[in-house]
Amino acid sequence: MKIGFIGLGIMGKPMAKNLLKAGYQVMVYDRMPAPVKEVVEAGATEGASGKDIAEKCDVVITMLPNSPHVKAAILGPGGVIEGISAGKIVVDMSSIAPLAAQEVAAKLAEKGVDMLDAPVSGGEPKAIEGTLSIMVGGKQAIFDRCQPFLAKMGASVVLCGDIGAGNVTKLANQIIVALNIAAMSEAFVLASKAGVDPEVLYKAIRGGLAGSTVLDAKAPMVMAGNFKPGFRIELHIKDLANAIETGHDIGVPLPLTSQVMEIMQALKVDGKGGNDHSGIVQFYEKMAQFEVRKGK
Ligand code: NAD
Repeated sequence: MKIGFIGLGIMGKPMAKNLLKAGYQVMVYDRMPAPVKEVVEAGATEGASGKDIAEKCDVVITMLPNSPHVKAAILGPGGVIEGISAGKIVVDMSSIAPLAAQEVAAKLAEKGVDMLDAPVSGGEPKAIEGTLSIMVGGKQAIFDRCQPFLAKMGASVVLCGDIGAGNVTKLANQIIVALNIAAMSEAFVLASKAGVDPEVLYKAIRGGLAGSTVLDAKAPMVMAGNFKPGFRIELHIKDLANAIETGHDIGVPLPLTSQVMEIMQALKVDGKGGNDHSGIVQFYEKMAQFEVRKGK
């Protein structure tokens, strides 16, 4: 099976490399030349465009920032739809609006092409390890054909429902992650300013009910003042915007999500949109005029 991979950013680059390590033939494309060069050096071939990749590969994976990028890469000029033929499969692994996934899938279906939406959770470290959580929407039969190569990028690959269900599940994931980071930030600023060493706080609570994967991944970054992404606040704003829009569409108010959204908007205005989302703590630090740092 020859796999095309479009979008070699923080996530796509290590994911494509894991497919190569697993022995798949991989053909790659990105607008930026540097990551393409790196993945070609690891054994991939270079495609000239989405169209070119779709002509030459059995499956096309996309890993792009948001709905407009996915629509441009698949449906736009020189895009996947121009080169793809019936029986081939598109797997969009970007986190996009569920409705956009359904729209793209409907256009591909007109050409006899099936699509899965298969966003991921776990961030760059798990993308490198090949241990992502992959949340999939689409038909069971297509899932069964794709599961073997998806399992080379993820430790968990779960079919969540029909097309769009992968992204609905991812929105739920992103709400939980954002609210967890905000809760952790609020608590760490309070406890540290009140005089408890943040490292001691972390050690004391991580094994109890407040412990979480978010706490283990993000508390060390907060304590080190290391906000290098990882997952950029701007991208998390995109996910929360998609969650809020979906909530409005189907009649589910999201009051806590909306609050964290505004915190992230304030950070973006403050020039911090490119920081890792652990940088949510900087909103609380500014309000409290106190920084949570190791040894403070
Ligand atoms: P990124 O910005 O690092 O990478 C995106 C890549 O897509 C870039 O290399 C860019 O050049 C390329 N690109 C954009 N438009 C293109 C087009 N039309 N044709 C070809 N290439 C194009 O983003 P990322 O962090 O890798 O995230 C990708 C997706 O995965 C996003 O939807 C994000 O929300 C999701 N995600 C990210 C993380 C994370 O921790 N970074 C974790 C889970 C999910």
